[in-house]
Amino acid sequence: MKALVYDAPRKFEYRDVPDPELEADEILMKIQACGLCGTDLHIHEGEFAPRFPLIPGHEFTGTVAASGSAVTGLPVGQRVVANSNMACGHCFYCVRGDTLLCENLEAYGVTRNGGFAEYMKIKAHRVFPISHLSPREAVMVEPTSCALHGMEVLDLEPGSDVLIFGAGPTGQVLAQLMKMNGAATLTAAAPAGPKLDLVGRLAADHVVAIDRKDPEVHRRRLQELAPKGFDYVIEATGAPSVCEEALNFVRRRGTILVYGVYPEKASVRFDPFDVFRREITIKGSFAQIDSFQRALNYLENGRIQVNEVVTQEIPLKDWGKALDLAWSRQGIKTALVP
Ligand SMILES: [Zn+2]
Ligand SMILES: [Zn+2]
Repeated sequence: MKALVYDAPRKFEYRDVPDPELEADEILMKIQACGLCGTDLHIHEGEFAPRFPLIPGHEFTGTVAASGSAVTGLPVGQRVVANSNMACGHCFYCVRGDTLLCENLEAYGVTRNGGFAEYMKIKAHRVFPISHLSPREAVMVEPTSCALHGMEVLDLEPGSDVLIFGAGPTGQVLAQLMKMNGAATLTAAAPAGPKLDLVGRLAADHVVAIDRKDPEVHRRRLQELAPKGFDYVIEATGAPSVCEEALNFVRRRGTILVYGVYPEKASVRFDPFDVFRREITIKGSFAQIDSFQRALNYLENGRIQVNEVVTQEIPLKDWGKALDLAWSRQGIKTALVP
């Protein structure tokens, strides 16, 4: 089969590889589409502890092509999505029930071969049947699951004023979830363009364009919208400078959610006296592990709209072009098709 293989950071090739050999508890998935995620850009640089040689891709959807002898209930041809994250079940955190914090966390597309290929094999217990989601929508199940986990971490008090920085793919979903689950007002701040327009249509009451050359403009606008600040500020851009700025917009006893994916070596400066004096809470939310079924539920029932989030489909063999699009921040999200 053909697959996109990374032999080392930045060293990739679309080439023939042997077909995966199934174990008894695995299925073979014929990939229909696999989303390009910010995480894949980090893996490209060798961040996030990828195990090379690696076929990346962790937002996959396809059909069951074959199954191992111990697999039941997943007939050939069934359309499916699958949870790429898998905990070990026996480390310090797993036995406490904190499986997402597993010390031996495995992830298809990071530590095991993923979905940037014609076929992939995956443990059947990670697989979820789907009915009417299009492949474009189905690649958004994993990001939606991440956004749902973000909601759980955030623990949003109903009736709150919320500000989200960033309007990328999971930001679009998180904004919709917050609108449905407790945000009395929702403001989205991001550079002007299709992402900001979409979040305005899908969820936000107010959109504020960020102008990096003249940040005073958006700062003034946010102060007008919430003179006392916001109860919750979600940092969903992954830019350290925005994370620093988030503290200026949270009100007393407010919460900041660090949700974006930052470069591993990034650092931010904040004023500890300010955090102490105003009783600010800073929380982090990482990926997902047990919210997959509920994410699927939201999507299959049309409560979360992702149809316009995937803005382009690119053949997997043109991976370099997909990377260029991502780096130049064109469109919102790319799905790769084998
Ligand atoms: Zn992702
Ligand atoms: Zn574990």
